[in-house]
Amino acid sequence: MAHNFKTDLAIDWCPGCGDFGILTSITQALTELNLGPHDVVAVSGIGCSGKTPHYLNIAGVHTLHGRSIPYATGVKLSNPNLKVILTGGDGDLLSIGAGHFVAEGRRNSGLAIILFDNAVYGLTKGQAAPTMELGEKTKGLSRENMFGKVNPIALALTSGYSFVARGFSFDMKQLKELIKRAIMHEGSSVIDVLQPCPTYNNINSMEWYKQRVYKLEDDKSWDPVINQGNKSDLSQKYHEAYNRALEWGDRIPTGVFFDNQTLEPFTKRINHIVPSYLENPPAAQVVSTSDGY
Ligand code: SF4
Repeated sequence: MAHNFKTDLAIDWCPGCGDFGILTSITQALTELNLGPHDVVAVSGIGCSGKTPHYLNIAGVHTLHGRSIPYATGVKLSNPNLKVILTGGDGDLLSIGAGHFVAEGRRNSGLAIILFDNAVYGLTKGQAAPTMELGEKTKGLSRENMFGKVNPIALALTSGYSFVARGFSFDMKQLKELIKRAIMHEGSSVIDVLQPCPTYNNINSMEWYKQRVYKLEDDKSWDPVINQGNKSDLSQKYHEAYNRALEWGDRIPTGVFFDNQTLEPFTKRINHIVPSYLENPPAAQVVSTSDGY
């Protein structure tokens, strides 16, 4: 019998929150991938998104603000066979956790990062988070946002993530498929999930997104996959992905931007670099300063 990935805990997200669609998409993806409860671990930081592991009937860890990526990396390195899902908000991952977000792109250790992107810190009363537009004033703010905006897709691409996608929490059919691909991707993945926070963000509402989002896959010529057969197209596909990443406003692309299946993940890289280092350590060097120390 298929495992039931939902717990029976009462969910305390606000009515209309986009988090519900993300949670349902995760459980559907896990079911359709035919994974068992011992195949997958959920890790989160702090924020409304941080509660997600509590609502998933698998092993989960609710960690510190901005520190979920190092924790999840440790889980993955201790057992590379585990599928590790990381849920975090744009505040958690792109502000206090931004250094770890960049480092994980460079490492490519195989995390599936699901970024709950609602432009606010919902858990602490709606302060402006890193994806809010400069000058925007939502109902949760006493004055307009004074900071510039981070582009999560562009940052993920330039950090080195090998699977980069965007979903919308009210399009669960598409989001479920993106999550399935991210979980099965060997390297590290980021899915930027656009989601309304109806309690504090009255600008980026469900209707606002519905009027703007479109699917990259509707363009039949769009092919973001790089494999051994077309590796020479890597640079071109990367630039195409980056150009799409900059598109924002009246039209907002969703779907897979970049899917590089040729980059060796850290969990494999470490096996053939570190053992050889340990077997043949570099000769000890004595370094002295001009003062003789
Ligand atoms: Fe969702 Fe916003 Fe409520 Fe948090 S505060 S649960 S993000 S609607």
